[in-house]
Amino acid sequence: MKAEIASISKEILQKSIDAEKLRYCYGCGTCTASCPVAKVIPESFNPRGLLQKIFFDLSKTLTEDELWLCAWCYSCYERCPQGIKTTEIFLLTRNLAVERGYFPKQPTNLIKQILRSGRTLEVTPARDRKREALGLPKIGETVSKKALREINIITEKSSTWRVRG
Ligand code: SF4
Ligand code: SF4
Repeated sequence: MKAEIASISKEILQKSIDAEKLRYCYGCGTCTASCPVAKVIPESFNPRGLLQKIFFDLSKTLTEDELWLCAWCYSCYERCPQGIKTTEIFLLTRNLAVERGYFPKQPTNLIKQILRSGRTLEVTPARDRKREALGLPKIGETVSKKALREINIITEKSSTWRVRG
């Protein structure tokens, strides 16, 4: 079943790549020039380069951290003169990577934290003491047991369960 899902995703990805005529990308670099992430970390992220990697070597790209650096601002998507839906292609590629069991370290830690506490940030007793000093109520280390159970059920039903390790 999981192999079937992965192959369906690959098909969708391939269709998207074909439909959007990724092969007609003429390398103008507008996507990279528009990208706020590439401006800050040009050594690690380049949307034009990432598109080429997806197109020419999908299997290898699925395992690369660069795939996870797009911040989904859609600037490249809106400005591409060839109408290539870059952001959507990055999303589909990420979905496929997850289905194949590839997660970068940072999101994995974040997901584990959410599964443990229901929050993206750990609320330690020290934080609660700071809140109390400011006259704010304690919020505790985790959300309610019911909410935590629901978060875990939702996770079970998605590909995210794989990060539990
Ligand atoms: S803006 Fe479009 S055509 Fe230009 S390099 Fe990026 S994907 Fe290719
Ligand atoms: S959608 Fe992603 S790749 Fe495109 S400009 Fe925004 S951050 Fe960069």
